[in-house]
Order: sequence, then structure tokens, then C-alpha cells
Amino acid sequence: NMAASAEGDAEGWCAAERPGAGGLALLGLAPSAPSCPHGPALLFVKTSQGKEEGRRFYACSACRDRRDCNFFQWEDEKVSEARLAAREEYNRNHQPSFTHRQNVERYENFVLLPLSKRRFCQECQQLLLPSEWEKHSDHQFLCDISTAQLKSPSQLLYPLENKKTNAQYLFADRSCQFLLDLIIDLGFRQVLCVGTPRLHEKIQSKASQEDDFRVRSLLLDIDFRYSQFYTEDEFCHYNMFNHYFFGGEASRETCRKFLYQDNGERVIMVTDPPFGGLVGALASSFKKLMSMWKKTEKEGHNNQEMPVFWIFPYFFESRILDYFPSFSMMDYQVDYDNHALYKYGKTGRRQSPVRIFTNLTPSMIVLPVEEGYRFCAICQRYVSSGNQHCEICNSCTSKDGRRWKHCVLCKKCVKPSWFHCNNCNCCALQNHTCEKTDAGCFVCGKAGHKRSTCPSLS
Ligand code: SAH
Ligand code: ZN
Ligand code: ZN
Ligand code: ZN
Ligand code: ZN
Repeated sequence: NMAASAEGDAEGWCAAERPGAGGLALLGLAPSAPSCPHGPALLFVKTSQGKEEGRRFYACSACRDRRDCNFFQWEDEKVSEARLAAREEYNRNHQPSFTHRQNVERYENFVLLPLSKRRFCQECQQLLLPSEWEKHSDHQFLCDISTAQLKSPSQLLYPLENKKTNAQYLFADRSCQFLLDLIIDLGFRQVLCVGTPRLHEKIQSKASQEDDFRVRSLLLDIDFRYSQFYTEDEFCHYNMFNHYFFGGEASRETCRKFLYQDNGERVIMVTDPPFGGLVGALASSFKKLMSMWKKTEKEGHNNQEMPVFWIFPYFFESRILDYFPSFSMMDYQVDYDNHALYKYGKTGRRQSPVRIFTNLTPSMIVLPVEEGYRFCAICQRYVSSGNQHCEICNSCTSKDGRRWKHCVLCKKCVKPSWFHCNNCNCCALQNHTCEKTDAGCFVCGKAGHKRSTCPSLS
């Protein structure tokens, strides 16, 4: 059954990242796309050996797990009036129970309550007003919610870790502080936080506590729980895979206005999307945000791009550069609190594969010398302590922070654990199985190994 198997593929749609291999290709956001509760759906097609095969279909842009959203429609499918009406009703019913405005009003009432009456329902992830206690009486709740707790919602809310949809991995304070200091040192005054609630929270809470702190921020995120803590000028419910503002024109206008303040001169966008996400869909949304910024500029302003920090794993470097040739990858390793792999361990730190991609001049991104980063005068950028400048490549070539070695046959630097394999005609792990597959590795796209043995995951 074609529909069932294509639907099954829609579920694993990060396979669409791999051009050339059998999988799915993202065709993008069609003007006439149907909508699910997460906004316009994305158009996909099944591919085999790099060729489109079979019928094109629409699937939810935000959810890769069909349990979160099972929207599916063939591109050429005739949808009856009755089904369209049912779908519209379904979409309406699957919006949050309170509007953002209602949540703001609830917050205003909540802060008037004495500490002893301030409850937060952990099951519903909701601030409770006394009249609602009854309804939540058999739920777990927290009491005595302090002003400090209200100012750090990312600590109060549990992280939505479900990998396939939200993948909410929160910055370790070390990394969050580093980002903020860097932003301030670079002279930015407006930070558009796209999927970075913890950075937003740090900026908001400083702004409310320190009179001379001039940085402002706006959070765009799909996690609507945050609307309980921020006004319409501080948070927009937004889907970064289809550039959809759930709050409609008013919300889009908030974003536009934010980018316009200060004539857009000292604005930076900082984004940390789910890593499983489609790079192509993200890039297209970010381009739209960047052009929103561009339109705010005075005419005659030179051909600049809105400054961006895109936080993403290093093995997506070539994919990001495909869409943004002006970007470069910084060596700084971004750490997380709730990620088993990417945080400081008890026995010292694990290497995180997550980096900052930016269109700012690399030499301006000063990395902390206390953590071992140093400046390479030839490359004109800060690099990891283990990243040696290779005389032959004439660059600091390590991507993962370890010292890489030069292979004369491959004419490039490779990971320390790799050896040149004459069979495969390239460097690979010593225990790799030589296999000539046209399809590249699922993770890094390179030939010679499968996902299970991908060196970038070791
Ligand atoms: N490190 C960041 C959080 C990154 S986790 C921090 O500490 O601030 C990814 C973030 O993107 C989460 O906040 C998640 O809610 C958000 N997100 C996931 N899918 C999204 C989508 N489709 N559109 C917008 N935001 C999304
Ligand atoms: Zn959906
Ligand atoms: Zn160098
Ligand atoms: Zn080299
Ligand atoms: Zn080699």
C-alpha cells in the first residue's frame, strides 16, 4: 500500500537530508499547501538513487513523529469539501486552550497572589489561579512559586525532550553566559531568539534587574508554554520549519517591529534548532527572517546580511554552507544541561559536537582562552587547543577539537582515528567494512561507511 509506506517515511523525514540516497527529498513550502495544526505542511517526494520516485505528498513541518501530528496528504489528492471542513475544525480544536492574551492576563493576576497561593501544575505545565485548584486536585503541583522562578521558566517547565519534535536541549549556564557576553561585546542590543528560550530568559531577567542593561530580546518558539511568562512583545508562537506565526499578522508585526528598532543596526539572531530538523526548511525560514530585517533598513544601506548565530552540530557544516555560503563554523563547543552526551560529565568534560555558525567575521568571535581556545594568526580565528594549523592544507583543520592528521593520498586532514584504505580509496576507521555504496552515510553524507559506523558520531 503506497499511502501507508509513504506515510511511514514521512515519520522519519530527516532522511530527506540525504540527497542521492534512497529516502525523502524536501521540495519545500508550496504556495497552496494544506495546513495542519502546525501551519502549512511541507511537500516531500520519495527518492531513489537521487531521482524522484512516486507521488509527492504533504506532511507536517514540525513533527517527525506521527504520534505528535499525523497530517498526510498526496499532492494530487482531491480533498472533499466535507473533509476540508473537518480538517479546519480539527486544526482549530488542536490549538492551545488559552490564547496568549489570556495567558498574559492570567499572569498579571498570578503575580498579585500571595506566595502561599501561587501554584504551578506540573502535569498541565500551567500556572494555576485559586479558582482552578479544584480541577487539578489530583495533579502534582509546586507551591510558593517565587518571582525568581517566574523569571526562569526554563527551570520551572520540564524540557520537552521528545527527540522527534521539540528536542528541547537547554544551554548549560557556561555556554549561555558565553553567548550573552559575546553578543554584548560585539555591540548588539537586540537579540532575536529563535528556539533559544534560555538565552531569552537570561536577557529578560537581567533587563528587569539591572537599570543599565540595554539588551532587549524577543523569543520565537513553538513551545507555547512560554506564553504564560512573556507578553506579546516578548514571545511569539512560531514554527521555524515553515516560518509560521501562530498568532497571525499581529505576531508577525511584533517580530518585524522588533527587527526595525534601532533601524535594525544592532540586531542579531541566535537560533538553536532541533538537530534532526531539515536544514533546507530551516534555512528557508531563516532567509525569510533575514529579509524581514533587510526590509527594515534605510534605502541605500549596503548589501548586508542580518548577523546570525546558528547553533548546530559540526557534521552539518557542508549542508549549512550550501544554503549560507557567507557563514563559517566556529570552534566553540556548546554545552547543554539535559543532554546526556553534550554536557560536562562527572569525570571531566565530554566533547560536544555542537558549534556556532555565523556570518560575522570569524576574527571577531573571541573564544575563552581560559578554556584552551587560542587565536590562529594565519586563519584569523580562534580555534580549539587541539586544533593544529596544518601547513599543507594551510588551515586549522580539526572539526571535532581533537588533533587531526594530514593524509597525502586524500590530500586533506582526517580524524586521528582514521587510516587510509586503499580499497575504498579514502580514509576511514580501521575496522570499517569496505563497501562501495553509492549512497553516502546517513549522518555525514560521505561514502565508505554506513550510519552505524559513522566516525562523526564516535
Ligand atoms: N539551547 C536552547 C534550546 C534549544 S532546544 C536554549 O537553552 O535556549 C530547541 C528549541 O527549539 C526548543 O526551545 C524547542 O521548543 C524549539 N523548537 C522545536 N521545534 C520548533 C519549531 N518547529 N519551531 C520553533 N521552535 C521549535
Ligand atoms: Zn502538524
Ligand atoms: Zn590555522
Ligand atoms: Zn592537512
Ligand atoms: Zn586517506
